[in-house]
Amino acid sequence: MAGEPQDDCLFCKIVAGHIPATVVRETDTTVAFRDINPQAPTHVLVIPKVHYRDAASLVAAEPTIAADILREAAEVASDDKLESYRVVFNTGGGAGQTVFHAHAHVLGGRGMQWPPG
Ligand code: IMP
Repeated sequence: MAGEPQDDCLFCKIVAGHIPATVVRETDTTVAFRDINPQAPTHVLVIPKVHYRDAASLVAAEPTIAADILREAAEVASDDKLESYRVVFNTGGGAGQTVFHAHAHVLGGRGMQWPPG
């Protein structure tokens, strides 16, 4: 059921502490940890503790937690002293989503191009 931990979800396992992660921030509703395959000097994932398959599902059901994610993304950037950074929600396989537990990528520490690939 949406919102409940999923046995087969990698990020639910990180929330539960069953898979290790380099956690940089944690709140009652969110966890932020370094991406295992970083695409920039700062590459942190901010996730809700509750399980929703993507950002659209999360914001529809739990808008305050979606806002928590945006606030934590800004805090990650502040912690890493980033003047410029990008926050990305890949939504759907065609957009590059591979883990179906909502998450924001916080990327910074290098120059970036637009549009992204
Ligand atoms: P997506 O492609 O937008 O779904 O992003 C999923 C991200 O999770 C990718 O950037 C992966 O590198 C990252 N990832 C996968 N497994 C782990 C892990 O165990 N720890 C941290 N990051 C992970």
